[in-house]
Amino acid sequence: MKILVTGGAGFIGSAVVRLAVARGHKVVNLDALTYAGCLENLASVADDPLYSFEHADIRDRAALDRILAVHQPDAVMHLAAESHVDRSIDGPGDFIETNITGTYNMLEAARSYWVAQGKREGFRFHHISTDEVYGSLGPEGMFTEDTPYDPRSPYSASKASSDHLVRAWHETYGLPVVLTNCSNNYGPFHFPEKLVPVVILNALAGKPIPVYGEGLNVRDWLYVEDHADALLLVLEKGAMGRYNIGGENEARNIDLVKTICGILDQKRPKETPYANQITFVQDRAGHDLRYAIDPSRIRDELGWRPSVTVEEGLERTVQWYLDNEDWWRALQNRDGVGQRLGTKG
Ligand code: NAD
Repeated sequence: MKILVTGGAGFIGSAVVRLAVARGHKVVNLDALTYAGCLENLASVADDPLYSFEHADIRDRAALDRILAVHQPDAVMHLAAESHVDRSIDGPGDFIETNITGTYNMLEAARSYWVAQGKREGFRFHHISTDEVYGSLGPEGMFTEDTPYDPRSPYSASKASSDHLVRAWHETYGLPVVLTNCSNNYGPFHFPEKLVPVVILNALAGKPIPVYGEGLNVRDWLYVEDHADALLLVLEKGAMGRYNIGGENEARNIDLVKTICGILDQKRPKETPYANQITFVQDRAGHDLRYAIDPSRIRDELGWRPSVTVEEGLERTVQWYLDNEDWWRALQNRDGVGQRLGTKG
């Protein structure tokens, strides 16, 4: 297959690109290289003849038309997005423009390309979304593919809007779409403003390890390479429609943070336990209490399950950050990294 991946220089997109190339797919990576984009994530495939890069913005419709016409992909995997909830609280505008208008541009460009190709049956537009569109759960229950939308942050509302557009383009124009809604990812190349890398890097720097509120928010954690594997499986073998993807690894934030501290105690011992650096800070506005994914559809129809437990995945992740200091040090100078964001609401 020849796949056009948007956002391929980001955390999840780069995992998808690396895996797709390893499996013999041709990949065109379309990325605007915002503060979150990092071509170093793709160093292992940069010289591979299966890989090519297009520096473009999904808000630029003419660029999308040109790239589709030049590369003639069999499928589009759309991951490009503004992805950090805290940044969406401080400045929602970029989230509206990239996540909603950008997705609209992608859909229109893909539709005219697909029509020009005689509405080829095998073509797929795969929209990668989040479980955050479903809102916040109490202590019981799980999100299924039929859970009503209830987004509560500017980020999740912008992703929910993009999901609605994707569904509408299928119903109205017949565009062959598949939609996946996934839980929290973690793993190598995670941008150093998100919870797991913040914990690792602040711990190593001897700084306070910030935990929002009382750390009781629950997330379902999925190792990023397992997510990439699920996405390629859905693209290759899935039916049209939606699949929820989860890690079967629910954990309270405070427990996740303590697990990471324990791994660091083993790998990089010092006089006092890293958990002593944990500091509770003001909670995020509108912080959803709990997300949990019911993964029955992808498990029963496609036989997919995560390959690692959260303990194994975190162990690999911590080791990766210990081994790749040059990568994360270079990103620490980027705008907003290392600062408390999301307090301007
Ligand atoms: P990320 O922020 O690490 O990467 C986003 C990438 O998109 C960057 O390379 C950036 O340069 C690019 N980009 C941003 N705006 C662009 C634009 N206007 N035009 C072209 N490229 C642009 O994000 P991520 O964590 O890898 O998430 C990827 C996708 O997966 C997003 O759609 C996100 O909503 C979804 N998702 C993320 C998670 C998670 O836990 N991180 C979970 C579920 C779903």
